[in-house]
Amino acid sequence: MKLAKKLLSNLFPSRCIFCQQTVKQSVEVCPDCYQALPHNEVCCVRCALPLAEGINNAVLCGRCIKKMPAFDYTYSLFRYEDEIIGLVHRLKFGEKISYARSIGELLLKRLQETDEMPDCLLPVSLHKSRLRQRGFNQSIEISRVMAKKLVIPIEHTAVIRQRSTVAQTGLNAKQRQKNIRGAFIVVRQLHYKHVLIIDDVMTTGATVNELAKVLKKSGVERVGVLSIARAPVKG
Ligand SMILES: [Zn+2]
Ligand SMILES: [Zn+2]
Repeated sequence: MKLAKKLLSNLFPSRCIFCQQTVKQSVEVCPDCYQALPHNEVCCVRCALPLAEGINNAVLCGRCIKKMPAFDYTYSLFRYEDEIIGLVHRLKFGEKISYARSIGELLLKRLQETDEMPDCLLPVSLHKSRLRQRGFNQSIEISRVMAKKLVIPIEHTAVIRQRSTVAQTGLNAKQRQKNIRGAFIVVRQLHYKHVLIIDDVMTTGATVNELAKVLKKSGVERVGVLSIARAPVKG
């Protein structure tokens, strides 16, 4: 079995998602391309909203000062720009399960740089119905990589959307908030103290905020968000 695996990886080596160069590690991004990506380093401590370079990294953004979100913290790997837009698109619409695994590894690494120790992962489904047709769900696949290494469960049945919402694209922050209000319902008792929501692109944060609200109402003490990318807020 091991030999077969080795032969296969020699025949079909992993390649960098961006430059097609052969990579040795399980993450399919070569070190050079990884370095060049738009890392979201200077951002709001609570919601990871990208802030201007030079701003102290321990500050809250204006939105969080005005109204503190229901979630306690956010880590977002990248800014939703340049190559990351293409990467997320390929993750959503591409057929390669290995993208999801690579991203799972990157998110895990980011989480392990923090002191946070969630006892459950809650993936926000990406394009629910379409993915069900295709047979695999990237957000679950991303979470699976992380859950396995962290030895914690993935929760994807206890919280459901009780009504379908209009697609959030094209709505401004206020409209998104209104659109998502009351969308989630907890259908089963949760016994977790600290839940980590796994999302792909966090735009205004309205969806994860609503999700965090229902989790807290049902007794979860700490709710965090870990996302691939964070968009700057417009409007
Ligand atoms: Zn590369
Ligand atoms: Zn903020």
